[in-house]
Amino acid sequence: MSDCLFCKILNGDIPSTKVFEDEKIYVFKDIHPKADVHLLVIPRVHIARLDETGPEHADLLAHMMLSLPQIAKAQGLDDGFRSIINTGPGGGQEVDHLHIHILGGSSLPGFK
Ligand code: AMP
Ligand code: ZN
Repeated sequence: MSDCLFCKILNGDIPSTKVFEDEKIYVFKDIHPKADVHLLVIPRVHIARLDETGPEHADLLAHMMLSLPQIAKAQGLDDGFRSIINTGPGGGQEVDHLHIHILGGSSLPGFK
């Protein structure tokens, strides 16, 4: 989508700090980190929100989820990490391109 911030990052129109990529996903550092490590995992295809996915996205969603541990470990998060998907305004989603937050490190805030 031409007016999507994360599609622009995927296209290279907006700079990002890449951490990992493969044929299905792109992973980069959040510009306003909420913890020592704060990454965003996005699909290369534009999907706005988790509640707009269906069975046709099962392989992609599984791939995203299954990739998280190795991405986190590669960033030094040996003790574990937090993963978050905000969905829609009610979930606090600000960027309408599906993304999984990976958070970890010593300054991880409490979760309430
Ligand atoms: P969400 O509230 O779940 O939609 O999260 C969107 C995230 O994107 C926020 O944590 C922002 O800090 C992050 N963000 C916004 N613009 C950029 C950017 N240009 N590069 C990296 N992260 C960004
Ligand atoms: Zn997009």
